[in-house]
Amino acid sequence: MENPLLSFSRPLPFSSVRAEHVVPAIRAHLAEAEAKLGAISDRDATYASTLGALEAATERLEQAWEIVEHLEAVATYPEYRAAYNTVLPEVTAFWSSIPLRENVYRALVAFSERDEARTLDATRKRLLDKTLADFRRHGATLDPAGKERLAALDRELGVLTTRFTQNVLDATNAFELVLEDRSRLSGLPDADIEVARASAAAKGYSGYRLTLQAPVVTAVLTHADDRGLRETIYRAYNTRGASSAHDNAPIVARILELRREKAALLGFANFADLVTEDRMAKTGAAARRFVDDLTEKTRAAFERENRELAEFARERGGPSVLEPWDVGYFAEKLRRDRLSFDEEELRQYFEADRVLEGAFRVAERLFGVRIAAADDLPAWETQVRTYRMMDEGGREIGTFYVDPFPRENKRGGAWMHGLVAAVPPSPHIAVFCANASPPVGDRPSLLLFRDVETLFHEFGHLLHHCLSRVGVRSLACTRVAHDFVELPSQILENWCVEREALDMFARHYKTGEPIPDALLERLRAARTFRAGNAQMRQLGFAALDLALHIDYSPERDGDILTYSRRVLEKYSPTRLPDDHAMIASFLHLFGSPVGYAAGYYAYKWAEVLDADAFGRFRAEGVLNPAVGSEFRDKVLALGDSRDPMELFVSFMGREPRPEALLERQGLAA
Ligand code: ZN
Repeated sequence: MENPLLSFSRPLPFSSVRAEHVVPAIRAHLAEAEAKLGAISDRDATYASTLGALEAATERLEQAWEIVEHLEAVATYPEYRAAYNTVLPEVTAFWSSIPLRENVYRALVAFSERDEARTLDATRKRLLDKTLADFRRHGATLDPAGKERLAALDRELGVLTTRFTQNVLDATNAFELVLEDRSRLSGLPDADIEVARASAAAKGYSGYRLTLQAPVVTAVLTHADDRGLRETIYRAYNTRGASSAHDNAPIVARILELRREKAALLGFANFADLVTEDRMAKTGAAARRFVDDLTEKTRAAFERENRELAEFARERGGPSVLEPWDVGYFAEKLRRDRLSFDEEELRQYFEADRVLEGAFRVAERLFGVRIAAADDLPAWETQVRTYRMMDEGGREIGTFYVDPFPRENKRGGAWMHGLVAAVPPSPHIAVFCANASPPVGDRPSLLLFRDVETLFHEFGHLLHHCLSRVGVRSLACTRVAHDFVELPSQILENWCVEREALDMFARHYKTGEPIPDALLERLRAARTFRAGNAQMRQLGFAALDLALHIDYSPERDGDILTYSRRVLEKYSPTRLPDDHAMIASFLHLFGSPVGYAAGYYAYKWAEVLDADAFGRFRAEGVLNPAVGSEFRDKVLALGDSRDPMELFVSFMGREPRPEALLERQGLAA
């Protein structure tokens, strides 16, 4: 039988790919791509012979690899995983080799100097500029010694960030606290106590075993009445990676030094400038202005919340000065006191199938598409559903798969995967995966509110993928800047709390009643509870990230743990203990060579964008198709074919402002 990963046919061959197809097909595609890249030269450079050839060289590999990766995530088995693991390093090495190819860079430069390059349309011009900049950020203009040094820096960063990650894992696993007496867990929900009991039993202990796994830490810090227990867990958690056995402090210092040297070698003032050059923020300084501005606008509410909590704790017989291990505990008491919000009650209104249909109907109203079930597409599992998306004229613009429930051979969480980023008129292909609780008996699958938000979020990514009209694959769909990619997904979440939209799909699964006003009000109040503290925490991480990657100098600033603690303390509702060393387990910044380093600000950045853009819908109609089609044409359809700030400004008529976010969080002055 023919290898389905070698054909380029539609529909995608999901039901026929087997483990034995993976290695030969991917190696054949790699060899073909290699040959095509090798043939690119600076002789008579044209668009077609340079950028066009670069685009074409990887297209078949990319498509086969998307299928292989997707099946590894949703339908894997031991032989399949082994085949995947065999080719994964080869594929990764191939992608990272592209900007290091001298013949390709010479060809791109030669083309950029020809007349044809000056008359390119805006999208192709952007592709040329971005590709050249990308090659330069990977060292294309360095002399041989510089290239060698860059490779050495990247190698050491790879080794050290791996060791950092392993230390965090080992330090987390090295801790356990076994309590004989159930009364020390007073305050914890029964389910968490049962987890602790089962954890002890699994290790052959009697009693209750606490670990530093995130759910355990959260349960203790939120619920445990025993203040000493909270302090023990807090300190253990926030000193992970700072003990002599698993010491990440020197590793962090060295990673920062390597990143500084890398930035300098490539001609940047600091690592934040290197990372943000191709992002919406453009410079580290702009990212910092954003963080500082939002901090200033959050501070009054933050301090008000802190005073309120301190007073509440005193009334409840708590300590006169709150320590970090008291905040979560008294905040939970305050929440119960002020808000009577029951997730289980709300859930009765969110039947999974209706929510999915609801997301489709919202998209149809706003963006002029039509979504219909398609029964003729082969999938990887019988429970997977398949759909076609049509534009206003009835032309097919995308097909997509929905895989909603958990299985043993599928990974956890929810995600959108763009399987084929097409150039119209050929249709895009995407998949939306979730792990909702499946129907039990005659009770349908009912979603928690946060799962409803997740569904809308991932569907937003899917729309961004399927509505792309970009004529160049590398700039199409969701291949946009890191600090812009969450705008289309996060903006969709807004429709989950708007009455007009909710009434299209949120009905009590037994009575068919819409959500009562009082319940919706309670949901909204729960969303803004202590929002100033939540925001300040994120801003603190973002500020520390930028401080480390812009300012920090070991000669001037000294010990990295002390320096980091001092920065974070400005964003903390309490003082921080002297041994606080959160930085030593901050995987977002130090768990991979780049990861979220100098990019943590992007979480808040994207929230500002989505709240601000949603403001137009609020003002002009939550389901107003005129605003919807403008958002589609000016943002969703354009991928990365224009600078993201240009897209935002063309939709809003001005640059982003944080006021809409502050208002949504109940933090507006
Ligand atoms: Zn997302």
